[in-house]
Amino acid sequence: MAILSLPEYEELARVAHGHLCAGQILGLRMALLGVRLLELDDPTGTDRKRLITYVEIDRCMTDAIGVVTGCRLGKRALKFRDFGKAAATFCDLQRGRAVRVAARESAKERARELYPEIEAKNEQQMRAYREMPDDELFETRWVRVATPSEDLPGYKAPRVLCAACGEGVNFRREVARDGRVLCRSCAGEAYYTEA
Ligand SMILES: [Zn+2]
Ligand SMILES: [Zn+2]
Repeated sequence: MAILSLPEYEELARVAHGHLCAGQILGLRMALLGVRLLELDDPTGTDRKRLITYVEIDRCMTDAIGVVTGCRLGKRALKFRDFGKAAATFCDLQRGRAVRVAARESAKERARELYPEIEAKNEQQMRAYREMPDDELFETRWVRVATPSEDLPGYKAPRVLCAACGEGVNFRREVARDGRVLCRSCAGEAYYTEA
């Protein structure tokens, strides 16, 4: 599927995310800019194997970025780095280049200036974010992203079993500890405790 128009993406995003909001518009615009700078004209089709995206926040915009790029967690093409920032980095694996696109802090203020008569913030920002030029919305820069091979889609390696809990660990996420091979939970990184 080639690049669609913004209204067409808005409809897809509304369905995927459950509602349309300013964050979704921002995410769509951010991803459109990213793939345009990478010169990919069919991100979800012929170019789908060359694109991976790092997102820096888990919010509305994250879902919208997936709509444009086709990058999804389950395809290992969407990488989440929990920095709490409205930014994403789009990587073209084929050409070995990447561009980071960050929303400008001034974008909200600009939306207020453009549409002071719209009282509802979400409506005000949706309208403004549809219309503002890219460089008012975003700051972009070319960056280098060293993605280890085990993080790439399609990476194959034998699964290893954790010596403590016996569960299988994929993608070289195991850790060596005192001569044993452990999963990250058993190595002390667990995010849960027994109930
Ligand atoms: Zn939302
Ligand atoms: Zn374990």
